[in-house]
Amino acid sequence: MSKIGVLACARALSQAPGMSLAAVGLGRRWLRAALPGLLALLPLTLAAAQPVIDMHLHAWPYGADGPPDHPKNLEVMTRTLAALDEHNVVLAATSGPQAFLERWHREAPLRLLLGPVLPCEGGVNPNWFRYQCYANGAEFPDLVWLRTQYENGTYQLMGEIYTQYAGMAYDDPRMLPYYELAEELGIPVAFHTHSAPPLTASRCCPNFRIALGDPMSLEEILVRYPRLKVLVMHANPLVYPLVLDLMAQFPKLYVELSPFDRILARERFHQLLKAFQQRRLIRRVTFGTDGGDHGRAIEAYRSADFLSTAELDGILCRNAARFLDRPHVCDTVKVSDTK
Ligand SMILES: [Zn+2]
Repeated sequence: MSKIGVLACARALSQAPGMSLAAVGLGRRWLRAALPGLLALLPLTLAAAQPVIDMHLHAWPYGADGPPDHPKNLEVMTRTLAALDEHNVVLAATSGPQAFLERWHREAPLRLLLGPVLPCEGGVNPNWFRYQCYANGAEFPDLVWLRTQYENGTYQLMGEIYTQYAGMAYDDPRMLPYYELAEELGIPVAFHTHSAPPLTASRCCPNFRIALGDPMSLEEILVRYPRLKVLVMHANPLVYPLVLDLMAQFPKLYVELSPFDRILARERFHQLLKAFQQRRLIRRVTFGTDGGDHGRAIEAYRSADFLSTAELDGILCRNAARFLDRPHVCDTVKVSDTK
């Protein structure tokens, strides 16, 4: 039984109707004796019960090249969904090829929000984890089809947008109809920014360019589509300090900080976090893992003792809930089942 369960049971025991006075007295005495110990455990329990929204997850062939039902891909899916459960991730913004999104969603229909990836060079997602993006092999999803996916609730997000990997600017004319659709339907769009693993251009993706990942290059889109909800993935004001000015200019702009929570030294990551706090932008920082270890990522934030409880809760859940317009999702104490 959980510690909260123990506390609830102890209270119910002491208040249960029909119990003899002696039994009630015994219950109260037991509770008085046990309470200090139980209260000492409470912060630990509340930490475990903290709802989390992961704004950066992927459903794709981490385990092996091949379809979603390849045993290695199934293994990754099972392990990832178990981690969501373990860390009380109540929602996970999940992007990937159509077939992977469908497969993962069958396992966790309530917990996963789905977003297609685009563009898709030669019909496959243009990064290290390749698979055909759409069932029809298209490089860009058909707009009418995509609208239907949003309107019927199959997809809730757009992206991760991989223009940078495909050698395209964020405001490439081929992308604009998608931003227009997202703005019209109120669909948040998540952009890959900044950089990528070493040797990406020579070993993976010949069109990848660091220069195309500067978050400032999103400015034209933010001006052109003022109602568009934009998530800057991999935001790092230590490298791109102007991302803070971009946030100050555009209140619908939110950020996600993976993988810096796990690849930077802790002190350096906390400097990064403080940059948002000092500019009073911390309420637009969301939590994301990009498929990394949830426990390690959460700890990088939890160990930031300069964050108030409300700021930490905001990063782990409530800021993303606001961004996604799901105000009550963080009131969930525990998601016990994925279905
Ligand atoms: Zn990315």
